Amino acid sequence: MKGKSVYVAGHRGMVGSAIVRRLARENVNLVTVDRREVDLCNQAAVFDWFARLRPQVIFLAAAKVGGIVANNTLRAEFIYDNIAIAANVIQAAHQNGAEKLMFLGSSCIYPKLAPQPLREDSVLSGPLEPTNEPYAIAKIAGIKMAEAYRSQYGSDFISVMPTNLYGPGDNYHPELSHVVAALIRRFHEAKVSDAKSVAVWGTGTPRREFLYVDDMADACVHLMKIHSGAELVNIGTGEDIAIAEFARVVAEIVGYRGEIVFDTSRPDGTPRKLLDVNRLTRLGWRATTSLQDGLKQAYEAYQATLLVPAQ
Ligand code: GDP
Repeated sequence: MKGKSVYVAGHRGMVGSAIVRRLARENVNLVTVDRREVDLCNQAAVFDWFARLRPQVIFLAAAKVGGIVANNTLRAEFIYDNIAIAANVIQAAHQNGAEKLMFLGSSCIYPKLAPQPLREDSVLSGPLEPTNEPYAIAKIAGIKMAEAYRSQYGSDFISVMPTNLYGPGDNYHPELSHVVAALIRRFHEAKVSDAKSVAVWGTGTPRREFLYVDDMADACVHLMKIHSGAELVNIGTGEDIAIAEFARVVAEIVGYRGEIVFDTSRPDGTPRKLLDVNRLTRLGWRATTSLQDGLKQAYEAYQATLLVPAQ
């Protein structure tokens, strides 16, 4: 990557902005472009911009993302936007001779009932979790594109599968966010208003693995430098936690001392989602931020957003 032009697609998102922060420690020529200038769903705009800029290395971190409700209700937007972004950027990278591209997938590409921890080779071995099937199908399309361009054109396009991510830049929408941001906000608001109880969705029994986004960015930069090949690489911590216990940890960090109740009218989603990180470990990387430390930083980042006037 040294001295190369490196394009981060999705630089305003939680992951893309973490990659941008991490790249500040590398000697690269960073390239980004705002959505108002180039909408990644617009093929002509993407092709035109790539032909002019010709980035050499690409982190494809742009995506339409959201929690279980967003995935389940905005089903058309999730499949269309994510397929369009992957198709446009990967094809443009190929047409303009990019040296390397990293496609960011998601752990939800694995079948709902695949053996845990989830190994990279379990992709397409069974039916997906229905609540996020459109998003997962779009991400699988991106992975298969990277693979196909590697096999047909010899492109050095790689794919990584992050687990559930959290940290600065997260989306705190009460309905559409992921669980970490949702609970940070809900517990914070309950603390401030002295509420007696807070609802956590589902039964509390699903298990999830959480990775701090700056660790994710560090893993991406590491793999961009040393990994080449069609094999997917999971990025996670290798540890998971039940949502009920996780909620208690968040409550503690936020300083909420009231009751926690479970709203079982809300969906649980997939029962467990823990990545097998053996391949990642063999490639020489492991997560360094503990859940406690990551959540403290995420809570600070959330509080900082409250100081900024809404736009
Ligand atoms: P998922 O990993 O794709 O299911 O993404 P989410 O982050 O949306 O949900 C993770 C788990 O947390 C699911 O079992 C949810 O039911 C549970 N959960 C508990 N409370 C909340 C909440 O307030 N928002 C969200 N999004 N999930 C919640």
